[in-house]
Amino acid sequence: MNIDLIHEANRCLNCKKPLCKIHCPISTDIPNIINLFKENKIAEAGEALFLNNPLSIFCSIVCPHEEQCKGHCIKGIKETPVEFPLIEKEISTKYLSTLPLDKKENNNIDVAIIGGGPAGITAAILLAKEGFKVTIFEAFSKLGGVLRYGIPEFRLSRELTDTFEKYLLNLGVKIKYNTLVGPIHTIQNLKDDGFKYVIITTGVWNPKPMDIKGETKGNVHYAINYLVSPESYSLGENVLVIGGGNVAMDAARVAKRLGSSVTVMYRRGEEDMPATKVEIAEAKEDGVEFKFYYAPKEILDDKMIFLRTESLTDESGRKKLITLDDSDIAVKYSSVIVAVSQGPKKNIVSSEDRISTEKWGTVVVSDNFETTLDNVFSCGDVVTGPKTVVAAVNDAKKMVNNILSKEGLI
Ligand code: FAD
Repeated sequence: MNIDLIHEANRCLNCKKPLCKIHCPISTDIPNIINLFKENKIAEAGEALFLNNPLSIFCSIVCPHEEQCKGHCIKGIKETPVEFPLIEKEISTKYLSTLPLDKKENNNIDVAIIGGGPAGITAAILLAKEGFKVTIFEAFSKLGGVLRYGIPEFRLSRELTDTFEKYLLNLGVKIKYNTLVGPIHTIQNLKDDGFKYVIITTGVWNPKPMDIKGETKGNVHYAINYLVSPESYSLGENVLVIGGGNVAMDAARVAKRLGSSVTVMYRRGEEDMPATKVEIAEAKEDGVEFKFYYAPKEILDDKMIFLRTESLTDESGRKKLITLDDSDIAVKYSSVIVAVSQGPKKNIVSSEDRISTEKWGTVVVSDNFETTLDNVFSCGDVVTGPKTVVAAVNDAKKMVNNILSKEGLI
C-alpha cells in the first residue's frame, strides 16, 4: 500500500479537542506531531515522539490503532481516518539513527531490571539517561520480550529490537542474557549485591491450560511457547488453534505460513472474539479458517472432541453462553495449539514471599508501582495481566518517575 503521508497529514482537522490524543494510552500529541511533519521538521517530531514514548516506533506498528487514535479520528466518521500510525512510523524510523545518547552524570545507584520486554527496555532507557547504573537480567538470549519472541517477524522486524539492544549497550546498560532470576539468583541476592532498586518486568509467560483431558499429548502445544521458535515444530497437515485472541491469530498465521492448514476453533461467535478486527481480517487473508461455537472437551490421539455452544440473550439484554447437551463433535487434527490466555510465571516471587501477588500470580503494586517489598518496583503485563505494548511503556514511564521522585531527583 503506497500512501501519500503528506496528503494524510493535510487531512488532519487539527481538532480543538483531539480525540486521537485522548484515546492514545500514552497521550501522544498527535496534532502537534502532524503539524511538525507538515513543516518537514522531522527531527523535531522524532524527538517529541521519543521523549513521550521511547518505543514509539514499535507502537506505530503494533498498537491496536482501531481502538485508539485511528478509531476515534473524526475524519473516520464520514471517510477514512487519518493514517497517523504510518506518519508516526515514518518519523520514528528516521529518528532511529539519532537515538539520543546524552545522559546525566553517573549517580552510582545500581538498578536491576528483571525482564527485557517493552516495560524493562523503557525503564532501562529512562533510568540510564538519568544517570542510574542499570543491569537487565533477561531469561532469553536476546532482548525484546514479546516484541522478539511473541509477535511474528512478518508483523515486526527483529532489526528494530536489535537497534534498541545496541542503543541500551551504548547508553551503558549491562545486559545479562540467558539469566532466569528466581531459581538461582533471588531478589535478596540482588539487594545483597548492592542493587538499590529491583524492577520486575517479567511479563506473562505461563500459558493457561484448558484443563481438559489429553492436554499433555505430544502434539498439543501452547501458543506462547510455539511462537518463541515456530520453526522447531513439525505440526503436520491439519492444525487446530484454540482461542480467539491476538495470540491465537499470531499462532494461526505463523502455522499457516509454515505450510499447515489451520482452523481456529472458538467457543463464542466472531463478534465476541477479543482479537482486533484487523488481526482477524489478516488471518482470513492468510487463509486461516474459523469455526465458531465450539467448546473444547477432550483431546484424543488424532481427533479432538468439542461441544457445540450457543449464545442466548436474556431479558436484560445480557449474553449468556450455553453448552448444548450431547452435542459432541469430533474434529481430526495433526497438532493443536492452545491460546486461551497467559499468566505470570511464579519463579521470582516464589523465592520472595514478601512480594504479594493476586490470585493469578500478577504482582500487587501501589499507585506508585512499588511492590509490597521496599524499593522493589514492578510494571507491565506481570502487574496488569496480558495487555499491550503501549500500556507497558506508559506504566514503565510512570514507574520511573516515582523512582526519581523517591530519590528526590524530580
Ligand atoms: P514481556 O514483553 O513479556 O517481556 C518480559 C520479559 O521478561 C521477557 O523477555 C522474558 O523472557 C523476561 N523474563 C520473564 N521472567 C524472567 C525471569 N525470571 N528472569 C529474567 N527474565 C525474565 N501488544 C500490542 O500492543 N500489539 C500487538 O500486536 C501484540 N501482539 C501480541 C502477540 C503475542 C503473541 C503476545 C504474547 C502478546 C502480544 N501483545 C501485543 C501484548 C504485548 O506484547 C505485551 O503486553 C507486552 O510485551 C508486555 O510487555 P512486558 O515488558 O510487560 O512483558
